[in-house]
Parts: sequence; structure tokens; C-alpha cells
Amino acid sequence: MSDIIDADLLVVGAGPAGSTVARYAAEQGVDVTIIERRRKVGFPVRCGEFMPSTEEITAMFPGSEGISELFDVPSSLVRRNLEAIRLVTPSSRSYDLPFQGYSTDRDLFDQYLASEAVSAGAELITGCAFQRREGDVCMTSQGPIRAKVVVGADGPGSRVAQEMGLPLPKNAYPAVTAQAEGDFEPVLVMFFGGIAPGAYGWIIPKDGSANVGVGFNPKLADRRPAEYFQIFADKHGFDVKSRLSGKHVPAQGPISPIAGEDHLTVGDAAGHVMAVNGGGVPLAMIGGRLAADAIVSNLRDGSPLSNYERDCRRILFPPLRSAARTKVMADVFAFGSDLRTELCMRTLGRRRMAKMLRCRFPFP
Ligand SMILES: Cc1cc2nc3c(=O)[nH]c(=O)nc-3n(C[C@H](O)[C@H](O)[C@H](O)COP(=O)(O)OP(=O)(O)OC[C@H]3O[C@@H](n4cnc5c(N)ncnc54)[C@H](O)[C@@H]3O)c2cc1C
Repeated sequence: MSDIIDADLLVVGAGPAGSTVARYAAEQGVDVTIIERRRKVGFPVRCGEFMPSTEEITAMFPGSEGISELFDVPSSLVRRNLEAIRLVTPSSRSYDLPFQGYSTDRDLFDQYLASEAVSAGAELITGCAFQRREGDVCMTSQGPIRAKVVVGADGPGSRVAQEMGLPLPKNAYPAVTAQAEGDFEPVLVMFFGGIAPGAYGWIIPKDGSANVGVGFNPKLADRRPAEYFQIFADKHGFDVKSRLSGKHVPAQGPISPIAGEDHLTVGDAAGHVMAVNGGGVPLAMIGGRLAADAIVSNLRDGSPLSNYERDCRRILFPPLRSAARTKVMADVFAFGSDLRTELCMRTLGRRRMAKMLRCRFPFP
């Protein structure tokens, strides 16, 4: 790539957020270029690879329309259907909460979403990193791109947000993951306590393997991510077959503003992650479609991109705020010592913890 590329819309980052924006904008006739820093979309995997069912997503984000169509992925992407989430206290007491979802291969999942964007007409350029913006031109590692609208779908440390003067999510938690071989019960297991201070360790079963990992609050931690992971892996005797990889998970709750005159952020870059469990893929896709609709209207009749933030406030912010409040409460009362974590989990009990998992405040 050498000459300047002209596009209506430049999307930076081909994760779930970016590919969803690109797909829905291209389907409505927008000329879209999507750039991805990595050579291979979705690889290496830095995710627990759990997706809630469409029923669970609808229950969590009731204001969102067309969930079934948005999350209609080929059955080949479902590695294992999971029926419950098991929460394990520091003393190994466990609470099984019915919760429908499935594990996937995130690299294939992201590649599928990117292929949908390309089928809709978007041009995807891999191995291409956004660097900075000069006027209406974005400088990338493969040359300049001029675009009427720029979307930062480039994750929690968003370079686009920094260049455009939008806020970055604060309080990001480190989280690392790997693949372990073996037979695992079809239950997503979350382990709380000193094994993963301020967050949790997880087992997310696949077919003949599992995604295993830990996330933690850096303010409560005295070890590095790989050390926490090793302690967790040794404790459970995981037969780890892949390299450890990870990144940061925004844990602050919604941020504002997430849109300017000709730019906006989506997904992790916009802080759209459930603070109670670190899940962000469903939000990246719901927010991505809202962003696409606002961009299409902006390009057609000049409607402000702030309509995207208005829609996020209606659909995404209430559950995200509840989750963030719950997280603050957990930081104050539950985390910091195994005894407190144990007591809080026992006091909350199954019903309240089930509400928390679904981004509802546990009280009353
Ligand atoms: C260890 C871990 C486990 C997780 N487990 C789960 C889970 O089980 N379920 C769940 O729902 N969520 C999970 N999450 C959160 C989830 O991964 C994110 O919320 C989700 O990936 C957000 O999607 P996104 O498209 O906003 O960002 P990303 O998926 O991070 O995609 C951003 C893309 O932008 C690219 N990029 C970055 N900078 C540039 C640049 N300058 N130029 C071009 N491209 C760039 C990146 O390479 C990347 O491909 C987990 C997160 C971590 C770290």
C-alpha cells in the first residue's frame, strides 16, 4: 500500500467491535476500510473464549434489538455448550448457577466476523497499524488513509482514542490465558480468593481441552501475571499446551465521551466490558452495530455521531453501571483477604450472585 486510500469510514482494529461496525456500515452502502495491526485476525488468542447464549444476552441488555441475528454464528464456532457457571470460594465451597452459553475458538470467531465484514463489502488490510491522525488523514504503518469518519476499535489502550482526545478506560486489570488438554465438566468454573486477587481464575471447557486463565486487580497483587497463572495451573494440575498470552481488561464501567464530530470508540476502547466478570465480546458487537447505524446516518444526512453515545446510554450503560457498582462494593467488602471473600460469597448466596453475574445489582 503506498498511494493514499480514500474511504467513507476507517475502522481501526478487527476484533469483534471493529468487524461488527465494518459489517453493518458496509451492508448499508458505506465505503469501509478496516485495518488490523496483527497479520492474522484474532491470533494469538487473548480471551477466555466464553460467549453467553442469545437468551442470556437479551436478558442482560433488554433494550437491544435483533440479538438473535447479531449473534447468529455458524455452529462450527461452538466448541462446547455450557449449562452453568460454578463459583468457587477460597475454601472450595461451590455454587452452581444455571447460565447458558458456549465456548468458542476466539481466533476463528474473530476471523468469521471479519469475513462477514469483507463479504458485506469492507476492505480489510492486515499487518497495518494506525499511528496518528494529521487533519483528515490517518497515518498507518502501510501508508496514509483519508476517511470522513474514524472508529477506534483498537482495544483498551486505544491509540485512536488518544489521538482524538477521547478518554481511555481506567483501572484495567491484567488477565492471562492458555489452553489446557483434558476432559472437563461442561461447566464454566470461576475461582475466587488470593489465587486471583480482586478478580478470578477460570476454567472454560472446550471439547477435550479448556481455556484456563487468571485475571487480577493490580492494586491487590504482589506477583506478576505469569506467576499467578503458574500457581493456579499447579494447583489444578493443568496440562497446559499453549503459550501464555494476555492483555488488559477494562474494569471501570462506562466512560464518556465516546464520540466526537468525526470519530468514536467502540468495544474495549470505549470501556464496554462487564466489570463483574470481564466479559466484553457481546458488548463489542452490540455497541459495534449501534455505532454503524449512527455512522450511516451521519454520512447520509449529517446526524451527529453523539447519537451513538445516546443509544449506548440507553442500552449498554444501565447494566454496565450496575456491574461497576457491584464491583466497587466487592472491592470494598469482599476482596483483599480470603476470609472476607469467603464470608461475602456465603452471605450473598446463589440468588444474589446469579443477579451479579447478569449485571444486576444484588440488592434488594
Ligand atoms: C484474558 C482475557 C479473557 C477474556 N475472556 C473473555 C470471555 O471469555 N468472554 C468475553 O466476552 N470477553 C472476554 N474478555 C474480554 C474480551 O476479550 C474483550 O472485551 C473483547 O475482545 C473486546 O473486543 P474489541 O473488538 O473491542 O477489542 P479486541 O478484541 O482487543 O480487538 C482490538 C483489535 O485492534 C487491534 N489493534 C490494536 N491497536 C491497533 C492499531 N494501532 N492499529 C490497528 N489495529 C490495532 C488489535 O490487534 C485487535 O485485533 C477477555 C479478555 C481477556 C484479556
